[in-house]
Amino acid sequence: LPCTVRSFAEALGLPAQKVLAKLFEMGTLANINATLDQATAELLAAELGVDVTFRAEADPEEEIEAIWNAPDPEESLRPRPPVVTFLGHVDHGKTSLLDKILGLNVAAKEKGGITQHIRAYQVEKNGRPITFLDTPGHEAFTAMRARGANCTDIVVLVVAVDDGVMPQTEEAISHARAAGVPIVVALNKVDLPGTRPERVMQQLTGLGLVPTEWGGDVEMVRTSALTGQGIPELLDTLITLGDIFELKANYDRPACGTCLEASLQPGRGVVAKFLVQKGTLRPGDIVVCGTAHGRIKAMYDPLQPHKRVQEAPPARPVDVIGLDNVPEAGSRFVVLEDIAKARKIAEHRMEMARQRELAQVRSHVTLENLFERLSQKEKKTLHIILRADTRGSIEAILKEIAKLEHPEVKIEVIQALVGGITVADVHLADASDAVIIGFNVVPDEDARQLAEQLNVQIRRYDIIYQVADDLKAALEGMLQPEK
Ligand code: GDP
Repeated sequence: LPCTVRSFAEALGLPAQKVLAKLFEMGTLANINATLDQATAELLAAELGVDVTFRAEADPEEEIEAIWNAPDPEESLRPRPPVVTFLGHVDHGKTSLLDKILGLNVAAKEKGGITQHIRAYQVEKNGRPITFLDTPGHEAFTAMRARGANCTDIVVLVVAVDDGVMPQTEEAISHARAAGVPIVVALNKVDLPGTRPERVMQQLTGLGLVPTEWGGDVEMVRTSALTGQGIPELLDTLITLGDIFELKANYDRPACGTCLEASLQPGRGVVAKFLVQKGTLRPGDIVVCGTAHGRIKAMYDPLQPHKRVQEAPPARPVDVIGLDNVPEAGSRFVVLEDIAKARKIAEHRMEMARQRELAQVRSHVTLENLFERLSQKEKKTLHIILRADTRGSIEAILKEIAKLEHPEVKIEVIQALVGGITVADVHLADASDAVIIGFNVVPDEDARQLAEQLNVQIRRYDIIYQVADDLKAALEGMLQPEK
């Protein structure tokens, strides 16, 4: 359900005309393709004197889930390259580092003329490939994650040694941590005279990132995007970590992966940048990707926009041509056998998206609905993002929160930073289902609007014990909605 008049008649073994006539008697003028809701169908069945039972149609999303999660036998798994994302404060050198790395590859010099928002490239070091994703910031990284696209294996946190840890450095750390992705630090711009990487290492240690050379577990590499110093070491570190994490995938299965971004390009049609995560993608494959579907006409190397690719194995980014429309960035794709099925799923999703838009059902945890919401979950954790005017306030609030005890619910502060509430915070709350608490700070206008749009709750306070009181009441399901 819902079902059409045609399938209703077929299911009952009645001529459709008879069903239509009965409907007409009941005051409804319908045609054979009209859909019946459950109430009408029940009434109709009663009028026709037949018994019906209602069954939900097999959910196409579950089918896709099943394909995506189809187990890969241990012996089918082979090592795959790591997928690495650069994050860091603006101007600390993310773009320059990646450019320098790609410079190692002759092909990188041949750049596409189109401005890409997310760049995805594969390079080789000593015959070992590494895949790099260059997102426009941790907001984009986390927005992708909110759509279920967790494609990064390792985050390279770029920190310029002349500037040190900056607000977005700290944000990037919490975003990487919330995604559960390990961090490697590039201490960049070491060519600048008079800089002291050790000072930055100290700052990072204060944030819980302790360098291996000081006995911790975070690799920190001194780099310069200008001279190229340290870049071979950075690449070696990424390859070694990939080996340590034993990243593996099954190469011999229908491909699935993530659409990093897609656009309509003059003369080419829909160009989708795919990252293959399992299996091997080939021209001719039928894919469904978000609300788009189609048969892959051609695949191109993102580094050489005119070079055709015949096979894309796991961790390989490719530009794909052949989809019927532009899927949303972060949509997952799977290869199916049957084009009709692919079309049906894409259409179903389009319909669902339309309905969601009408209903605006995107819902998140709030302190008022906490109790109800958590009672439906297995793991009961309230995620909090804390923003405050000073370090002192943060410490005082964290201390109060630590005192709160509840037999079932755990409070986890996934980010606690000084400063106003940002768009990145709202994305993080969206992806992690968190409530944002602002203490003596306000959200900027963009953040406020985005929070409204995504239904992320922002609560503002100026009295510390009030924060604790509200959280306590929320844990007990006693908090009244804010006026
Ligand atoms: P992003 O915002 O993190 O992508 O930073 P960019 O890559 O755009 O770099 C910002 C500025 O820093 C540019 O002017 C670069 O030329 C400069 N820069 C980046 N890396 C280095 C480096 O290793 N050494 C020096 N001296 N300058 C760098």
